[in-house]
Formats: sequence, C-alpha cells, structure tokens
Amino acid sequence: MSKKLKLLAVFAHPDDESMGTGGVLAKYASEGVETYLICATRGERGWFGSDETNPGFERLGLIRTKELEAAGKILGLKEIHFLDYIDGDLDQADHNDAAGKIAAHIRAIKPQVIITFAHDGSYGHPDHIAISQFTTAAIIQAADASFVDSSNNSPHRVSKLYYFVDSEAFADAFIKYMGEIEFPVDDQVRGEAAWKDWMITTRVDISSHWKTVWDAISCHQSQLPSLGPMLDLPEDEIRKLLILQGTFYRVFSFVNGGRMSETDLFEGLR
Ligand SMILES: [Zn+2]
Repeated sequence: MSKKLKLLAVFAHPDDESMGTGGVLAKYASEGVETYLICATRGERGWFGSDETNPGFERLGLIRTKELEAAGKILGLKEIHFLDYIDGDLDQADHNDAAGKIAAHIRAIKPQVIITFAHDGSYGHPDHIAISQFTTAAIIQAADASFVDSSNNSPHRVSKLYYFVDSEAFADAFIKYMGEIEFPVDDQVRGEAAWKDWMITTRVDISSHWKTVWDAISCHQSQLPSLGPMLDLPEDEIRKLLILQGTFYRVFSFVNGGRMSETDLFEGLR
C-alpha cells in the first residue's frame, strides 16, 4: 500500500509515551511511519522534590513540556499536541469536551492506527483510565459525520485501536527491579495490572530500539526520581527490562482479525 502510514499515540502525561510505548514509537518512526502524540496534560503535579523546591504548576508544566519535546526528537515524533488539561484533574474533565478535542486531532492527522492506555490505566492512575476512555470515544466521534469539530475537518475512520498492556514477564521484571507499585486512589490501593499471555493480541519486537527508549526516558529529568533503583542498574539490566515492552491488546481492527498473535501494529494495512 502506497498510502502514508500514520501512528497516533494518545496519553495523559509527558513521559507516558517514552516509559510505556517508546519502543514502538521509535521503531515505527525509524521505518518511515509518521508518528504523532497527543498529550492531555503538561504533568503539572509530577514533582518529586520537597515542597520548598517545587517550581509550581506553571513552571513545572513548562519544564515538562521541554522534556517531552526533547524525548519526542529522540523518538522521531513528527508532532506533539497538548490538550492542556491539568495533571491529576483529567478524570474530572468534561467527557464530551475531551473526546471532541481528541476527535478533531484525529480528523486533522488521519492516522490508521491509534495507541493509548488500557482501561486499567497500567496501574490504576485515574488520568490514564480517563484518557483511554476519551480516546476510545473520540475514535467513534471522528468517524461520525454528524459530529462537527471546530476546525471543520472531514470525518476519518481509524482502522485499528490498541491498548498498550504490560505482560506478566514485564511486570515480574519491573517489580523485581523497582518493587511493587502502590498507588492509592480514594480508599483503594491500586497497582501494576499484568495481562495474561493469552490476552495479548500483539507483540512488537522492539529489542533493537531499547537504547533510544532509554535515551528518551532520560530526557524526562524531572521524573527520574520516580524510577528509583532503576537509575543505578547497569545498562544491560535496563535493556533486559525495556525489551519486554511492545505488548498490546487489539481493541478493534477493520483490516484483520483472528486469534493468532500479530507482530505489527500495521498488519493488514501494508
Ligand atoms: Zn502518566
């Protein structure tokens, strides 16, 4: 197929793209696929230092915007779009407003494939769960001729939607290096939610891109304290962890199907 292949990633915070899906973004960009990112917030609440040294929402948002732009260059992203919601408040956003904004970007970019968080938000983060829901709704809106977006773009039907998911192998390795994630939300303690092997529809080999991923992650300087013990690991151990990513759940596809596992997000489109 001579049509330009386009991949759109939709995430909540600067660093989600590198830590979650840096491997596929780097791989597909290196193969000439146009890769785009929509980032819902500028990560204004992601401060790991003391309260006294916190630069504040606006300044931290600017710092993290720059960090994301640097990571985007390394990953080969063609464009980054911010929705300018506030970090931590995304699940409170008006759902029609949020889905509509994403739908307008989908119509402007016209990607065949979209990737976002799964409904478990990786470890239960409400912003991650919210962006997964908004993105899934936005795909329907983008294709619906009765929805008129502010830029008057023509409707666009996305061919495939994927949720990026953590395999048990990745979760086991992650916990070994980093310990269990304990993420309190309301009165629950949430954490890493590994997907069984049989639930994973798609395994993309990203092993030759692990160094690019690590370089992109390293651009998010303000977030590195969250990686804790990982920062002290020898590179070979980091490699062993990062190459376990690239696992996805195919939510829908108009171009292929069946229970055999795929190795390419664009299978059926080439
Ligand atoms: Zn995040």
